[in-house]
Amino acid sequence: MACALRLAAAGHRVQIFEAADSVGGKLGLFERDGFRFDTGPSLLTMPHLLREVVGDDVTMRRLDPVAGYRFGDGTWWNAPDGEDSMAAAVERLRPGNGAQWARFWARAQRIWDVSHEPFLESPRAGALTLLRQALQVGDLKTMAPWRSLHSLAAQHFTDPRLVSFVDRYATYAGSDPRKAPAALAAIVFAERHFGAWYVDGGLRRIAEALVERLAQCHVPVHLNATVTRIECVNGVARGVEVDGRIVAAEVVVANADASQVYGRLVDAPRALRQLRRAKPSLSGFVLCLAVDGPRNHDLAHHTVLFPERYDDEFDDLFGPAPRPVRDPAIYLSAPNDPAVAPPGSQAWFVLVNAPRHAPDDGLDWGAPGLADRYADRVLAQMAERGVEVRPQVRWREIRTPADLARRTGSPGGSIYGTSSNGPMAAFLRPANRSPVPGLFLVGGSSHPGGGLPLVLLSARIVAGLVGPA
Ligand SMILES: Cc1cc2nc3c(=O)[nH]c(=O)nc-3n(C[C@H](O)[C@H](O)[C@H](O)COP(=O)(O)OP(=O)(O)OC[C@H]3O[C@@H](n4cnc5c(N)ncnc54)[C@H](O)[C@@H]3O)c2cc1C
Repeated sequence: MACALRLAAAGHRVQIFEAADSVGGKLGLFERDGFRFDTGPSLLTMPHLLREVVGDDVTMRRLDPVAGYRFGDGTWWNAPDGEDSMAAAVERLRPGNGAQWARFWARAQRIWDVSHEPFLESPRAGALTLLRQALQVGDLKTMAPWRSLHSLAAQHFTDPRLVSFVDRYATYAGSDPRKAPAALAAIVFAERHFGAWYVDGGLRRIAEALVERLAQCHVPVHLNATVTRIECVNGVARGVEVDGRIVAAEVVVANADASQVYGRLVDAPRALRQLRRAKPSLSGFVLCLAVDGPRNHDLAHHTVLFPERYDDEFDDLFGPAPRPVRDPAIYLSAPNDPAVAPPGSQAWFVLVNAPRHAPDDGLDWGAPGLADRYADRVLAQMAERGVEVRPQVRWREIRTPADLARRTGSPGGSIYGTSSNGPMAAFLRPANRSPVPGLFLVGGSSHPGGGLPLVLLSARIVAGLVGPA
């Protein structure tokens, strides 16, 4: 939708075909009894990218603290907004941490400086081009492509709690911190530098604002309109097939998951082979909790409850036989927003990382009773870690990876397309300009990656590649 708005502003006549009965995809909504839940994103960073497309149509709030944490050893700690406060807060956790944080922060900033323009904000260059650029400016040491995010954290911190704190950022890219490149420290920098933002009414408002803007720009949005093929003439994309008829176009921008685009919609065997070499990203298991009673003011808007052994989570997720994580890090979002819950109650969103729905490989999230049993387990683990909400839960709604796959067409419910596991992963991610002339890929499964800011950047990159009408 962001790309469509940019293309319309550049003078193109644009129309959108959406398979579902509403827009927004993973930026989903669940409403019941006056409760309004985001079923997808709950935290936005780099808000200027959203402002570029929706202006002031959404009201955003910068959160402080960014998140509250309960570490595996039982310590509670808040990560405040702002770097001075952060240095003091990590120092309070253990003397000496402040200096280590300052060194890590400087490194994360250098990684951001080196990578954001040539990588995140530009069409994807080849690995060799990027390597050459890095060598030219002597930044290879900063990026340390041989180092994982976990190893970068372990190099900087003697306090294992701060290692877990940094490791979790790999999951923002659906990845294993022990395999994801150190470059992902740029995510830590971006979130803390640009802030963690909430949108009043819930992040779903973003999709609503985009669709309102599309209407103002006279961009038709066809719902329940599944694209079944990308029409090519002499190897050039010339339109899409919807409901058995061809809609002609000079340019096709595909926002469906890249594996669907190259696997089913168009013939691009090399691109498909390259995509299949990459490890798919993880999925998520979501609980929407209708909670009775007023807000507990000790609880931050975002809270992360770490298990004792965070490493084990990634063995369960990415091991040879992926399984629901036995003792997962539990992320909880409890917005302080009267627009999302009736008076005297709260709308909680709980998310744990989960392997993809893969019934052929032995993980069937639709298996009878599995989702309910797992939800009970997550709620019990929350209680063990100090957040006992069960007596207040009026009802709950569960969303499994299988639901996500069904609702958004992402294979197995992968949230971020392919993962960033491995130094070459970013280069296996599909480029925005496809090998088929006239066909462009936008969104979280293509360059530069998943998560709202990167998806908004991909929209900007694609609009730039297509150019003015
Ligand atoms: C549980 C969860 C939590 C998340 N938390 C955060 C967060 O806190 N912060 C953050 O920044 N990001 C978060 N994300 C990631 C973020 O939601 C995604 O990266 C982003 O929304 C992806 O947008 P997209 O347009 O690339 O893909 P999608 O949202 O998947 O959109 C693709 C659209 O294409 C449609 N489609 C698919 N196939 C076809 C077809 N053949 N024909 C027509 N239409 C088709 C789908 O129906 C869908 O509407 C989260 C995601 C989830 C699921």
